[in-house]
Amino acid sequence: MRAQGSTRGTEGALVAEHIEAILDCMVEGVILIDRSGLIRRFNRAAERLFGYRVEEVLGCNVSMLMPAPWNREHDHYLARYSRTREGRIVGIDREVQGLRRDGSVFPMQLSVGAFDAGDEPFFVGVIRDLSETRRMQAALATREAQLRLMFDQAPVGAFVTDARGFILSCNAAFERMLGSAARGLTGKRHLDLVHAEDRPGLAPTLAALRESGAGRTRCTRDLRYLRLDGSVAHVQLHVGLVDAVEGARVLIGQCIDHSAEHQARKELAALQEQFAHVNRLSVMGEMASGIAHEINQPLTAIAAYAQACRRLLAGGAAPQPATAVAEDLSDALEQIALQAQRAGEVIRRLRGFVRRGEASRATTHLGEVLTGVVKLAEVDSRSHEITIERDISPALPPVLADSVQIQQVVLNLLRNAMEASSARGSDGDDDAARRTVTLRAEVLAGVVRIAVLDRGVGPDADAAERLFTPFFTTKRSGMGLGLSICQSIVEAHGGRIGYRPREGGGSCFEFTLPVAPGGEA
Ligand code: ADP
Repeated sequence: MRAQGSTRGTEGALVAEHIEAILDCMVEGVILIDRSGLIRRFNRAAERLFGYRVEEVLGCNVSMLMPAPWNREHDHYLARYSRTREGRIVGIDREVQGLRRDGSVFPMQLSVGAFDAGDEPFFVGVIRDLSETRRMQAALATREAQLRLMFDQAPVGAFVTDARGFILSCNAAFERMLGSAARGLTGKRHLDLVHAEDRPGLAPTLAALRESGAGRTRCTRDLRYLRLDGSVAHVQLHVGLVDAVEGARVLIGQCIDHSAEHQARKELAALQEQFAHVNRLSVMGEMASGIAHEINQPLTAIAAYAQACRRLLAGGAAPQPATAVAEDLSDALEQIALQAQRAGEVIRRLRGFVRRGEASRATTHLGEVLTGVVKLAEVDSRSHEITIERDISPALPPVLADSVQIQQVVLNLLRNAMEASSARGSDGDDDAARRTVTLRAEVLAGVVRIAVLDRGVGPDADAAERLFTPFFTTKRSGMGLGLSICQSIVEAHGGRIGYRPREGGGSCFEFTLPVAPGGEA
């Protein structure tokens, strides 16, 4: 029995040693107190946490490790537990404050367990220091607040959607972009905010982006949003795919609002169109006497044929058979109809040229446009005694253009060329070549090039530099706006205009127009 008892005693000592070792190895602080709150055990981690050595605290009341006011309450808690066995903290984790030896306070997580040894209740507290966790949480919260501020105050509209395209959050700039009353965009489907005409283009792009995985993870699109008041916002949208926490995917969108620039461009285009229209009217004004002459000719012819008809009906000195009279009358009436048609055509062409309307681009066949403009220019060419020679390739591909504006450019160039050609009369060089202006149109790589060539005295070096500057003119009654208007029209069509001296003397003004998409053979 003794031998057995001593074995049990050795085992007991071994277990106690193990428990001691375990307690000292624990990362958590462990404190054992008795029913009066006196400290009975204090492990190494507790020493580190509170800054006391074990011998300094053994037998002391545990309330020394608590800041006020909790230190005053603790003895009451213990007494109540001993009486009622109802623990408010026993068996649950809670966050409390610890008081270090140096007087500093730190947040800690405390789990309390109770057990009875003999008739005595004991309490064991396991303590985890939360200082680092709290520091990290505070740092994260600060960082998040900073990012939130950047997100909210960014001048660029930003939003986040879930994988199905529903808005999770958006910033103030995005809400402003969609109208000041646009609160509550969260939860809406992003695609529903996009202008209906732009949705079919955007939807597959976003779908591809969502499914792109490691491949393409961002894209940029110009598109329109429909504001809540029904107006349109023109934006450039950058969307990126982000793998957020736990594999959930979100799309992050940023949009730059180009509405103001878009509006300014639109207003500028309208102003340019108005300006070009005034220029066409002014060109017509300058051509008025030629036009009057052009219309007068068929009218005079009509009057002459009408006179002849009257004479035929009245019967001449030598009466003719009725059939012959009828034949002559029919010929005269046909001539009247032809001349009326000719006058009508001149008027139709003029009306088309001075018509006002928003510049509208359409697939245009330049052959017909150039033939029309040569007919208009012939009003002037006859009075200048100039021949307009056409060298127009029969295989011109279509261009995307406003035909009236292109006619305006060509007419301006032809009239300048005719003026330059007829101004050079005094040097005795009066051959037909000098009085010929050539209109050439040919196709080069991806563009149609139209050139107007003359044999007049070209601009001198100084003038050649300033030809396209508004209000530059060398003519007594010139406005100096023709070429600058030509330049803005051509550039608005995506082309270029320029001048070069012509080989053998004279000038060559030429411009290009891009071939319409799909127009190249
Ligand atoms: P404007 O005809 O009212 O002067 P433009 O802008 O059409 O205005 O032309 C500006 C100037 O360019 C003309 O005054 C003239 O000096 C020069 N210019 C234009 N075309 C020719 C040309 N074919 N030959 C010589 N000079 C030209």
